[in-house]
Amino acid sequence: MTIFSRIINGEIPCYKIAESENCFAFLDINPMVRGHVLVIPKREVDYLFDLTDQELSDLQLFAKKIAVAQKKVIPCQRVGQAVLGMEVPHAHIHLIPMQTEKDMLFSNPKLKLSEQEFQQIASDIRAAL
Ligand code: AMP
Repeated sequence: MTIFSRIINGEIPCYKIAESENCFAFLDINPMVRGHVLVIPKREVDYLFDLTDQELSDLQLFAKKIAVAQKKVIPCQRVGQAVLGMEVPHAHIHLIPMQTEKDMLFSNPKLKLSEQEFQQIASDIRAAL
Protein backbone atom coordinates (compact mmCIF):
# COMPACT_ATOMS: atom_id res chain seq x y z
CA MET A 1 0.00 0.00 0.00
CA THR A 2 1.35 3.48 -0.83
CA ILE A 3 1.89 6.16 1.78
CA PHE A 4 -0.92 8.12 0.13
CA SER A 5 -3.34 5.19 0.47
CA ARG A 6 -2.45 5.07 4.16
CA ILE A 7 -3.24 8.79 4.38
CA ILE A 8 -6.62 8.22 2.72
CA ASN A 9 -7.32 5.38 5.20
CA GLY A 10 -6.43 7.63 8.13
CA GLU A 11 -3.46 5.47 9.18
CA ILE A 12 -1.07 8.38 8.61
CA PRO A 13 -2.10 11.93 9.59
CA CYS A 14 -2.40 14.69 7.04
CA TYR A 15 -3.71 18.22 6.74
CA LYS A 16 -6.85 17.27 4.89
CA ILE A 17 -8.51 19.71 2.52
CA ALA A 18 -11.34 17.70 1.01
CA GLU A 19 -12.46 14.37 -0.35
CA SER A 20 -15.00 13.10 -2.82
CA GLU A 21 -16.10 9.59 -3.68
CA ASN A 22 -12.96 8.97 -5.75
CA CYS A 23 -10.52 11.76 -4.87
CA PHE A 24 -8.69 13.20 -1.87
CA ALA A 25 -6.78 16.46 -1.28
CA PHE A 26 -4.29 17.38 1.46
CA LEU A 27 -1.38 19.75 2.07
CA ASP A 28 2.03 18.73 0.81
CA ILE A 29 4.19 18.19 3.89
CA ASN A 30 7.24 19.77 2.19
CA PRO A 31 5.58 22.72 0.52
CA MET A 32 7.13 24.80 -2.22
CA VAL A 33 4.90 27.69 -1.11
CA ARG A 34 2.11 28.26 1.39
CA GLY A 35 -0.99 26.38 0.36
CA HIS A 36 0.75 23.70 -1.73
CA VAL A 37 -1.87 20.95 -2.11
CA LEU A 38 -1.73 17.41 -3.46
CA VAL A 39 -4.79 15.97 -5.16
CA ILE A 40 -4.92 12.20 -5.56
CA PRO A 41 -7.25 9.49 -6.79
CA LYS A 42 -8.37 7.07 -4.09
CA ARG A 43 -7.60 4.16 -6.37
CA GLU A 44 -3.95 3.26 -6.06
CA VAL A 45 -2.46 3.89 -9.49
CA ASP A 46 1.16 4.92 -9.92
CA TYR A 47 1.11 6.78 -13.22
CA LEU A 48 -1.42 9.55 -13.75
CA PHE A 49 -1.99 8.62 -17.36
CA ASP A 50 -2.85 5.04 -16.41
CA LEU A 51 -6.07 6.36 -14.84
CA THR A 52 -9.20 5.74 -16.88
CA ASP A 53 -10.60 8.69 -18.79
CA GLN A 54 -13.38 8.98 -16.22
CA GLU A 55 -10.98 8.86 -13.27
CA LEU A 56 -8.68 11.44 -14.82
CA SER A 57 -11.59 13.69 -15.59
CA ASP A 58 -12.96 13.34 -12.02
CA LEU A 59 -9.53 14.10 -10.58
CA GLN A 60 -9.03 17.18 -12.73
CA LEU A 61 -12.47 18.57 -11.91
CA PHE A 62 -11.87 17.90 -8.22
CA ALA A 63 -8.51 19.72 -8.53
CA LYS A 64 -10.27 22.67 -10.13
CA LYS A 65 -12.54 23.09 -7.09
CA ILE A 66 -9.56 23.04 -4.77
CA ALA A 67 -7.62 25.51 -6.96
CA VAL A 68 -10.53 27.96 -6.94
CA ALA A 69 -10.57 27.82 -3.14
CA GLN A 70 -6.77 28.20 -2.89
CA LYS A 71 -6.88 31.30 -5.10
CA LYS A 72 -9.44 32.91 -2.79
CA VAL A 73 -7.36 32.62 0.37
CA ILE A 74 -3.69 32.30 -0.62
CA PRO A 75 -2.19 35.49 -2.09
CA CYS A 76 -1.08 34.48 -5.60
CA GLN A 77 -1.24 35.38 -9.26
CA ARG A 78 -2.66 32.00 -10.13
CA VAL A 79 -2.63 28.38 -9.05
CA GLY A 80 -0.34 26.26 -11.18
CA GLN A 81 -0.47 22.52 -11.42
CA ALA A 82 2.29 20.01 -11.95
CA VAL A 83 2.62 16.27 -12.17
CA LEU A 84 5.94 14.61 -11.34
CA GLY A 85 5.43 11.40 -9.44
CA MET A 86 9.15 10.70 -9.11
CA GLU A 87 8.93 10.11 -5.38
CA VAL A 88 5.59 8.57 -4.42
CA PRO A 89 4.15 5.85 -6.70
CA HIS A 90 0.55 7.00 -6.29
CA ALA A 91 -0.68 9.44 -8.94
CA HIS A 92 -0.96 13.01 -7.68
CA ILE A 93 -1.41 16.53 -8.98
CA HIS A 94 0.50 19.32 -7.24
CA LEU A 95 -1.57 22.52 -6.94
CA ILE A 96 0.79 25.40 -6.26
CA PRO A 97 -0.28 29.01 -5.61
CA MET A 98 2.24 31.02 -7.65
CA GLN A 99 3.43 34.60 -7.50
CA THR A 100 6.09 34.03 -10.15
CA GLU A 101 7.11 31.11 -12.33
CA LYS A 102 10.01 30.49 -9.95
CA ASP A 103 7.49 29.20 -7.40
CA MET A 104 7.13 26.14 -9.64
CA LEU A 105 10.80 25.17 -9.48
CA PHE A 106 10.85 21.86 -7.67
CA SER A 107 14.57 22.25 -6.99
CA ASN A 108 13.79 25.24 -4.70
CA PRO A 109 14.31 24.77 -0.97
CA LYS A 110 11.05 23.73 0.67
CA LEU A 111 9.22 25.85 3.24
CA LYS A 112 9.37 24.94 6.89
CA LEU A 113 5.98 25.58 8.45
CA SER A 114 4.80 24.99 11.99
CA GLU A 115 2.00 22.61 12.84
CA GLN A 116 -0.14 25.66 13.59
CA GLU A 117 0.63 27.24 10.21
CA PHE A 118 -0.28 24.03 8.37
CA GLN A 119 -3.53 23.81 10.35
CA GLN A 120 -4.39 27.44 9.60
CA ILE A 121 -3.69 27.13 5.86
CA ALA A 122 -5.74 23.93 5.60
CA SER A 123 -8.58 25.49 7.52
CA ASP A 124 -8.52 28.65 5.33
CA ILE A 125 -8.66 26.60 2.11
CA ARG A 126 -11.43 24.37 3.47
CA ALA A 127 -13.46 27.43 4.45
CA ALA A 128 -13.18 28.76 0.86
CA LEU A 129 -14.50 25.58 -0.76
P1 AMP B 1 6.61 13.59 -6.44
O1 AMP B 1 6.28 12.11 -6.35
O2 AMP B 1 7.96 13.83 -7.04
O3 AMP B 1 5.52 14.36 -7.15
O4 AMP B 1 6.69 14.16 -4.96
C1 AMP B 1 5.88 13.65 -3.92
C2 AMP B 1 5.39 14.77 -3.04
O5 AMP B 1 4.67 14.18 -1.96
C3 AMP B 1 6.49 15.64 -2.43
O6 AMP B 1 6.20 17.00 -2.71
C4 AMP B 1 6.40 15.34 -0.92
O7 AMP B 1 6.66 16.46 -0.12
C5 AMP B 1 4.96 14.89 -0.79
N1 AMP B 1 4.74 13.98 0.34
C6 AMP B 1 5.42 12.85 0.60
N2 AMP B 1 4.94 12.27 1.72
C7 AMP B 1 3.95 13.07 2.18
C8 AMP B 1 3.07 13.03 3.31
N3 AMP B 1 3.12 12.02 4.21
N4 AMP B 1 2.17 14.03 3.46
C9 AMP B 1 2.11 15.03 2.56
N5 AMP B 1 2.90 15.13 1.47
C10 AMP B 1 3.81 14.17 1.29
